[in-house]
Amino acid sequence: MNIGIVGLGLIGGSLAIDLRSCGHTILGVSRRRETCQQAVGRGIVDAASTDLESMVAADVVFLCTPLRAISSTVEHLLPILPPTTVITDVGSVKASVVKTIAPQWQNFVGGHPMAGTAESGLDAALSGLFVDRPYVLTPIDSTPVEAVERVTSIIAPLQCRIYHCTPEDHDRAVSWISHLPVMVSASLIAACMGEASPIVLKLAQQLASSGFRDTSRVGGGNPELGVMMAMYNQETLLSSLYAYRNQLDQVIQHIEQKDWGALERQLKQTQQTRPQFL
Ligand code: NAP
Repeated sequence: MNIGIVGLGLIGGSLAIDLRSCGHTILGVSRRRETCQQAVGRGIVDAASTDLESMVAADVVFLCTPLRAISSTVEHLLPILPPTTVITDVGSVKASVVKTIAPQWQNFVGGHPMAGTAESGLDAALSGLFVDRPYVLTPIDSTPVEAVERVTSIIAPLQCRIYHCTPEDHDRAVSWISHLPVMVSASLIAACMGEASPIVLKLAQQLASSGFRDTSRVGGGNPELGVMMAMYNQETLLSSLYAYRNQLDQVIQHIEQKDWGALERQLKQTQQTRPQFL
């Protein structure tokens, strides 16, 4: 199949590598000419261009640009494509993307491969990124079954775990387990950097080990992605942040009041419930 990938960065490049090794012909589009040249030179894509016109030959187009570029990309892309082309995207937020594209393009299937690293750009692309990771599809009532089946047939060989849900449920769920953790983890790093003593700060940095590595990882990732999550999932993320602040206040209260029993009950409960997420 001819597969178009718009946005040859971490996710677009990683998809290109894996889908090409599945035998598909990969047509890439990216913003910068150097990225296109690099993608062809490294054998990541069969052809690449900065011009969306090349997407006319694609059976399926994956939109892999940053979220803020999706609507302008779609505006330029739709007049070029035959109506049979299936479009899907990889954006980390779904309701706003689906609301933008679905009314304009029948054969659109919202998607979100839930895999990533702290790096960005084509240099960060790697093979096998999606193995055993969730890949969420968010078809709506008007989405043709054939379009969902076509996207599914392309992504299933990546050995990802495919889930279906509404765009709104997706955004609420990822707000808890992806967008909230980014903000919490970033706040943790910022709070530590607020240590007044340079000697203590330096010592903390030297002593930081696996616990800090785990809890700070997502706060040390691509800032643009974090801003996009907040911008495009604002209301839902705010609800999660308010709930988190309440939890934190509760912990503070237990400690201030030396209510070790209540603190222990809470920590026992979180110890028991964590495995339900992982
Ligand atoms: P990324 O590494 O920055 O890649 C995006 C690439 O798109 C850029 O490297 C840029 O390449 C290109 N680009 C930017 N504007 C463009 C435009 N107008 N037209 C064509 N190409 C353009 O970002 P990413 O992490 O792959 O994220 C891409 C999408 O995946 C986002 O929607 C994000 O929400 C989603 N996502 C990210 C992750 C993650 O953990 N990173 C996980 C799941 C989903 P050049 O400037 O070099 O041409």
